[in-house]
Amino acid sequence: TSVAERLAALVRTIPDFPRPGIQFRDITTLLLDPEGFQLAVDALADSVSGPVDLVAAIEARGFAFGGPLALRLGAGMLLIRKDGKLPGETIAEDYALEYGTDRLAMHVDACAPGKRVLIVDDLLATGGTALAAARLVERAGGTVVGARFIVDLIDLGGSDALRAAGVDSVSLLTYE
Ligand code: IMP
Repeated sequence: TSVAERLAALVRTIPDFPRPGIQFRDITTLLLDPEGFQLAVDALADSVSGPVDLVAAIEARGFAFGGPLALRLGAGMLLIRKDGKLPGETIAEDYALEYGTDRLAMHVDACAPGKRVLIVDDLLATGGTALAAARLVERAGGTVVGARFIVDLIDLGGSDALRAAGVDSVSLLTYE
């Protein structure tokens, strides 16, 4: 069985969450399985070719994969959080949700100019969240070297949106 098949067996689908008609892809069951969790982190690390200085992980499920991935890559970990959570001086970026907008923030001094930054989250849908994270890193002077996800909901076009912005992405498994 392939890595994608093994991971797919550990991702659970919850119907009608958070709203009726949404099929929520739940990676918490993957995290509970130590072999699956290790497999996912190893596969993410193996998909990275060049050097990475910082793994920029997106709150909250991105943190779960971002920490072990950063250590495997010999990189630091940069927290991208919902606005209002970080204690120091921040920069923020808005991004569109299905209804309304939300805002991500990072510490303004978290990424020195020239740092090579890999963005990580659990799941790619429209790409709006990852693109907001990429804008934050670039405003701080960092270079986004790519984005990595466990799951890509391919019909929502996130990987195309990232590519159009010059961000190469890899996801370990896809759903239509
Ligand atoms: P996007 O901004 O449209 O690409 O949505 C991706 C963001 O929404 C990520 O931070 C995901 O964690 C979250 N998300 C959207 N749908 C799901 C899902 O089905 N399962 C888990 N997370 C999801």
